Amino acid sequence: MARTVELEKESVVVDELISIDREPQRCECDHGDDAAYAPCGRKAKWRVTIDCVCGEGHPRRVEILCSRCMRTARQTYGREAITVRRL
Ligand SMILES: [Zn+2]
Ligand SMILES: [Zn+2]
Repeated sequence: MARTVELEKESVVVDELISIDREPQRCECDHGDDAAYAPCGRKAKWRVTIDCVCGEGHPRRVEILCSRCMRTARQTYGREAITVRRL
């Protein structure tokens, strides 16, 4: 019981920190090559859920993307495979 209360307190603190420092979220789209990950870094505006399109039944992925990468994803995976929500 005591443990539950502690956890609740912690999550409240985290929420406060997020609203205080209002850092804009950055697009996490990978613009690197096979050797290295290079995040896009533009201001993210969209939460994009991408269904598996390879036919192997992978779980859907969620990516935080800028407008440009969201459009690229839509072209890459097709409108039916992705769900876009404003952040
Ligand atoms: Zn897949
Ligand atoms: Zn981007």
